[in-house]
Amino acid sequence: MSKTEFTGESFYEFLKECRLMGSRCQSCEALHLPPRALCPSCHGQEMKWEEMGGKGKLVAFTTVHIAPTAMIQAGYGRDNPYCCGIVQLEEGPSISAQILGVDPTKPQDIAIGMEVQVAFVKRGTGEDEGTILAFEGAG
Ligand SMILES: [Zn+2]
Repeated sequence: MSKTEFTGESFYEFLKECRLMGSRCQSCEALHLPPRALCPSCHGQEMKWEEMGGKGKLVAFTTVHIAPTAMIQAGYGRDNPYCCGIVQLEEGPSISAQILGVDPTKPQDIAIGMEVQVAFVKRGTGEDEGTILAFEGAG
């Protein structure tokens, strides 16, 4: 699989290498995460990969009790909810990801604005093996 194309697939290929990569528009400097082949701001098509430092803050979250299949396979669900959040990276873009190191059964204890850092979580085996993007408290 090629990582030269600015697609979600390339993004996940980079995740397997524990790299968080966005695309930077060469016309208007806008940074996109996940990467985009076409800039939504200026419709420019010249992109360049840019690696994120992986630090950010939690700007929103929700606790998930009705899990999608992949998360059920990872052991989550009604009796074991997980936290999904929006993280705004230091570089500017926001991205949704699983939030680790917090208690999803106590959402009142999860602080908006808390500092988080990227975590690369391996899930599945064999052909199903993949790396998912997560963040955990930096504290
Ligand atoms: Zn642009």
